Amino acid sequence: MKLAVLVILGISVSLGDSVSTPEKATPPAITQAQVDGWTRSWQKRLDLGEWRVTALIVRVADLKPNTLGNLKWNSGEKTAVIKVLNPLDYDLTPAEIPVDMEYTILHELIHLQLSVLPHDGSSKTVEERVVNRIGEAMFQLSKGPAYHPRVSVAKSFIKPQGPTEASRSNK
Ligand SMILES: [Zn+2]
Repeated sequence: MKLAVLVILGISVSLGDSVSTPEKATPPAITQAQVDGWTRSWQKRLDLGEWRVTALIVRVADLKPNTLGNLKWNSGEKTAVIKVLNPLDYDLTPAEIPVDMEYTILHELIHLQLSVLPHDGSSKTVEERVVNRIGEAMFQLSKGPAYHPRVSVAKSFIKPQGPTEASRSNK
């Protein structure tokens, strides 16, 4: 059984170097039940029922630098663990955080969907782009016309990226 690791590439949490956010409101407390609910709901939509997926809310130190989430899976045992960033470590407005956490879960579950494909490391960037586009499309369908694509909030928490990563922001 092989254990693979995937990280949200390049989605940065700018800690400290962001433009001064006017009000430092207390971030919303996201419960484990909410995170579980998002996980179950997107897992069902993606028809990933054969997987046992666990979602964890973790502090920034438990993630790779400048990432909002992480997925580890075990193809043999059909288990997967998704880590999502704790609201306390987010640099978004309180209103933006829950939807962003839900998006992270969707994003990682799409990676899980693609985990059946060979992963030799050569297609990481392409996979990231594909996952972002599918995730964005699904999220817009789910949230309806009121949903603002993540590009609109991206500037507030994504650090400047290289050309490859930047293309992600303008879809
Ligand atoms: Zn990713």
